[in-house]
Amino acid sequence: MPLPSDFVFSQHNLQDYLDCPRRFQLRHLERMAWPAVQSEPILEQERHMQLGEQFHRLVQQHQLGLPVEILEESAGSDPNLQTWWQAYLRHPQTELPPLRKPEFTLAAQFAGFRLLAKYDLLAVDPGKRAVIVDWKTNRRRTPTARLRERVQTRLYPFLLALAGAQLNGGEAWQPDQIEMIYWFTAEPDNPQVFPYSEKQYRSDEKLLRAWIDAIVRSADQPMLMTADQEHQCPLCNYRSFCERGQRAGAWEDGDGDVTDEGDLSSIDFDFHEIEEIEF
Ligand code: SF4
Repeated sequence: MPLPSDFVFSQHNLQDYLDCPRRFQLRHLERMAWPAVQSEPILEQERHMQLGEQFHRLVQQHQLGLPVEILEESAGSDPNLQTWWQAYLRHPQTELPPLRKPEFTLAAQFAGFRLLAKYDLLAVDPGKRAVIVDWKTNRRRTPTARLRERVQTRLYPFLLALAGAQLNGGEAWQPDQIEMIYWFTAEPDNPQVFPYSEKQYRSDEKLLRAWIDAIVRSADQPMLMTADQEHQCPLCNYRSFCERGQRAGAWEDGDGDVTDEGDLSSIDFDFHEIEEIEF
């Protein structure tokens, strides 16, 4: 099936394409539902994802100015959520610019399609700097090298530089005014900071265009299955359809994440948060 002209590219579907073109095709073009258990034990996976969603909602409300006392009442008694929430409160991001935009969505035309990002938090000081913050509830801190490779680390600052003028008094942000911070509940005192630059912007522009062009060229034929079967297929819900195994991979050291697509109730599995499978 050719790529529909109104297709919207996001970090989630582009990451799927890089991990496995066939998964991208089945999930985002054909929208095939395939009722496989994605990982075991399923209840623990779902519970962790729900807690991640709750944590993001609490932080969003806090960034909007709701008092901590009121939020603590709604935080409930789950020990994991309490630990994450207390870690967040004990490690305030004091260096962030003053204007806060939690759960902010940006979209722009690029390479003939729409690019979209939903930011956990944009903190801006117009004319000076813009900081993208992403809250991660992984059980372990994601290694820097893996974070650097993620589509999210490229797309989020790129799109802010491309289309974020509304947050900068109508002027486009210069790439070197932008930085991205990943903050981890697992290591709240050790966030990962990625400064952005003109050079990186040019490189990301080229890469994003190349990925989109490749998808457009191959969308009307069966896309390739990943060569990295060992890491990608055990946790993919299409594995029985692809005849790449029946049993789900183990969840025990893994994690889920909230995606950037749809609202906060749209949670999905992030294959790069699975710690037990080394990439
Ligand atoms: S099972 Fe493997 S080959 Fe099939 S879509 Fe999933 S990751 Fe790709």
